[in-house]
Amino acid sequence: MTSSIVKTVCPFCGVGCGINLKVDEKGMLTGVEPLPNHPMSHGKLCEKGWSTAYAINPDNRITEPLKRIKDHFEPITWDEALDTISSSLKDVLEESGPAAVGVISSARATNEDNYAAQKLARAVLRTNNVDHCARICHSPTVAGLKQTLGSGAMTNSAKDIFATDLILVIGADPTENHSVFGGQIFEAQQKGAKLIVIDPRVTRLAKVADMHVQLRPGSNIALLNAMLHVIIKENWHNRDFISQRCEGFDELAKNVEDVTPESVERSTCVSAEQIRQVAKAYSQAKSAMILYGMGITQFVSGTQSVIGLSNLALACGHIGRPGTGINPLRGQNNVQGACDMGCLPNVYPGYQGADSTDTQAKFSQAWEGDVADQPGLTSLGMTKATLAGDFRALILFGEDPVVTDPDQNHVRAALKELDLLVVAELSMTETAKMADIILPAASFAEKEGTFTNCERRVQHITPALSPPGSAMGDWQWMKALAERLGSNQLSWLNSEEVFNEMTSLTPSYQGMSYEAIDREQGLQWPCNQDAPEGTDILHRNSFPIGKAKLIPVHYTEIDEPADDQYPLLLTTNRLHFHYGCGSMTRKSPLLEREIPPGVLFINPDDARSLKITRYAPVGVRSRRGYIETRAMITDDVPPGLVSMPYHFKEAPSNQLTNTAQDPITKMPELKVCAVAVFPL
Ligand code: SF4
Repeated sequence: MTSSIVKTVCPFCGVGCGINLKVDEKGMLTGVEPLPNHPMSHGKLCEKGWSTAYAINPDNRITEPLKRIKDHFEPITWDEALDTISSSLKDVLEESGPAAVGVISSARATNEDNYAAQKLARAVLRTNNVDHCARICHSPTVAGLKQTLGSGAMTNSAKDIFATDLILVIGADPTENHSVFGGQIFEAQQKGAKLIVIDPRVTRLAKVADMHVQLRPGSNIALLNAMLHVIIKENWHNRDFISQRCEGFDELAKNVEDVTPESVERSTCVSAEQIRQVAKAYSQAKSAMILYGMGITQFVSGTQSVIGLSNLALACGHIGRPGTGINPLRGQNNVQGACDMGCLPNVYPGYQGADSTDTQAKFSQAWEGDVADQPGLTSLGMTKATLAGDFRALILFGEDPVVTDPDQNHVRAALKELDLLVVAELSMTETAKMADIILPAASFAEKEGTFTNCERRVQHITPALSPPGSAMGDWQWMKALAERLGSNQLSWLNSEEVFNEMTSLTPSYQGMSYEAIDREQGLQWPCNQDAPEGTDILHRNSFPIGKAKLIPVHYTEIDEPADDQYPLLLTTNRLHFHYGCGSMTRKSPLLEREIPPGVLFINPDDARSLKITRYAPVGVRSRRGYIETRAMITDDVPPGLVSMPYHFKEAPSNQLTNTAQDPITKMPELKVCAVAVFPL
């Protein structure tokens, strides 16, 4: 064997930076470097990307299947593991039917793995109970933008920040979460783009922004409607664009007629004067680009907030041109792909409706067998159904809901009730600790497949390393499991066969091949007969639904406002040094030393009145749980608001968070809940 350099993609955030893995003659990873000339990252990586090697180090990995024996795990063979899983699944299916089983797939796994997961669910287990972490990040984006524009994804490309006059960042913290892209926003501002940040916290971008609108958490719709009121009243809306490309303007205008800036000062905590300024700046810019994140989506009004953003962009004609658009910043590196692959209960690959008899017939014919025909459960729906005794067996890979889902005690209680919990993982997680069977998974560096980043760019990865021990790629163990269950419907011989089947059934991916993706350094969907080179900007001349829809939205209060018993609002956030549940980035001693495991950010005024001193131990209580951590006193959060990262199992902020849900997507209101904080 000779040494080699293998091009691949960072396994962390949705930016999807290009990296080179250096491998020596013995097949050992010796270095990680940025890939020069990559279309997203241009030869740069953030600290997380540079630290990739720790996450996949064999010393940190699960290397063989494990079976729970009372309170510990014992190694077993793959045959024993698959026999145990299939026999338990058969029992549950026979006794309770397909509604009692489900699959939770992973935004860290490839498109091929995710395609296989939903096929395993729908064709083999015959259930639409399939979901993944988009439920708790961008499910409102998928639902909201699908309604208004016909496509639930970033409309433009990341490079457009260098072609815009104004960047409006709302409810997102890209310097922490999408760090390479966050750096590019700084650069675009230095080159002349105006930067407006709308966020309750003083983020790093907010500190340098031309305008920081520090709104109250959860008041997005009130603010957006008041901005629209000003724009329409001042005649700053784009009449030509609206008349030619949109419908519903009269109802929209009527809906915001009385929403004056003065009328929302109290609910938003933003002055009428500043609302007028931001409305003018956004509407009068030649091109303006909206970037948003979970400060928009993680509310009971998440879908309505996404629609509100869409109304704003459409009313000003900031769609379908370079430097414009509505651009959700996806969290994990393949969350766009996991959605595209149909790992959602209501859609098949390519967002083809699961309740449509045409879709069912199409997939049933292609997969040569009946498919699920009953509505499926979301991930939180599976938790609820488990506690009600209606759901019994869960296969989960590459996710850690004990750390990432709201109300951790409730999640743990549900997982304990399952007859069968299978977890495929790289290393031990809080959820894996509760499994009946743990399967050793291959990492991104050990398999072939594709990832789709936040700008819809599909990138091809090839293996640089062999998986440690008997670890296996996800679609491969799903294929073996399907065979145990009597199905040969997952009988692919390699990843390219999975990809080719998927593209043949997914209209927006139809023109792609591994060879074309490699040649073009990634292809942005839709890539098909009409757009063989891919599509950098959606909706240039038309929308997939004909005219775009302007849909009135109404402000609703957050589910759990502060009160006498719980007088502060808690918001959750991410930190630059970690990613998701921390199971990968926390393997790095370099990243681990940067921030203590768990911290509560609190304003000096609140700290003073509660007699909390710098880095003092504090207790934090909500209606659902209690945790202890340490206080970091900072003006970055306003009085009345405290903030906690969710990466740390030692201080799991999701013990506190609220499960109240957006009625459309079942997105829980992770972004804000009421808490009491006290010194210990
Ligand atoms: Fe790029 Fe995100 Fe990886 Fe950082 S974590 S290197 S920004 S893909």
